[in-house]
Amino acid sequence: MNKAWQGKLLRVDLAAGTCNVEALNEEWANNYIGGRGLGSKYFTEEVSPEVEPMSPENKLIMATGPLTGTYGAANGRYMVITKSPLTGTIACSNSGGYFPSELKYAGFDMIIFEGKSEHPVYLQVRDGKAELVGAVHLWGMSSNDTEEAILSEFHGDAKVACIGPAGEIGVHFACVINDKHRAAGRSGVGMVMGSKNLKAVAVRGTGGVQVADPKAYREAALDSYGVLKENPVTGEGLPALGTAVLVNVMNQNGGLPTRNAQSGTFDKAEDISGEALVAGELRRVKSCMGCIISCGRVTKITDPRYAGEGEGPEYETLWALGAACGISDMPAILQRIRHGPHLPRFDNRLCHGAV
Ligand code: SF4
Repeated sequence: MNKAWQGKLLRVDLAAGTCNVEALNEEWANNYIGGRGLGSKYFTEEVSPEVEPMSPENKLIMATGPLTGTYGAANGRYMVITKSPLTGTIACSNSGGYFPSELKYAGFDMIIFEGKSEHPVYLQVRDGKAELVGAVHLWGMSSNDTEEAILSEFHGDAKVACIGPAGEIGVHFACVINDKHRAAGRSGVGMVMGSKNLKAVAVRGTGGVQVADPKAYREAALDSYGVLKENPVTGEGLPALGTAVLVNVMNQNGGLPTRNAQSGTFDKAEDISGEALVAGELRRVKSCMGCIISCGRVTKITDPRYAGEGEGPEYETLWALGAACGISDMPAILQRIRHGPHLPRFDNRLCHGAV
């Protein structure tokens, strides 16, 4: 087996409340490269194509790849694989941050969740050991608040992936959020996690990831840095402007969804562009584990209406909360990212019979 695999997966039976460690299938690991390939192989071998996305028979797999946790650009990523409630077919939603590498450092390449817990729970993983603990007190919390609460219980040194109220109440495009600001955002994988009464996964690992030939690996990683630096998108556009680099580009090409996609051009696109962020609210850039592209943004609103600091926005935020709504007020868009839409608060635990 490729040395960079840890060679172990964690199987969590949410109905029985058990966590078991299994050896990774070596033949599959060699033949289905990466978290997407190997996770999809496990999923298609274990789950019938007839399964309903929201049924307990659907499984949810969190899968890293052999490069996850090693240095090198964009290597700190993982996949969330399940049957999608949004599309009705297999979903493979990808996210970066620091949670994926921490899972490898804790000794696991993959977690397979099966069944459905009777009550809200979250999974604690620490250096090869795992247990399910109650999460009734977390149910109904935003993803930000959930991470804060778990970190206070977990001595502050874990990396967390979790769902917010959207995943709990069954929004078909709900995300799984990790490290507060990174999203497995496609295909509604957060809705499946919520249907299993699984609120979060908190991981702490103190191990490492080995590579077969460290010298050759270092040379290959440095080569890849060179390729990325020479490319105008990964070497200039994304580092300088983040994914918001796309606002002006898409607008110029008639592809910026505007006023509920009635138009592909927004006359005030420049006000919500990556360039406008640099001139105004940008404070610093941020990267996922080991990535030199650093497309993340940390922004500060000085406008007294919405003063505050936080992460974002991404291109998707800018078109969805900006152009698509006909809004060109950057501080107002940033404030919405921090605090979410105005939704009525209610106790989601009632939906799942948790209280
Ligand atoms: S910093 Fe940006 S480019 Fe690098 S891994 Fe994270 S999301 Fe991808």
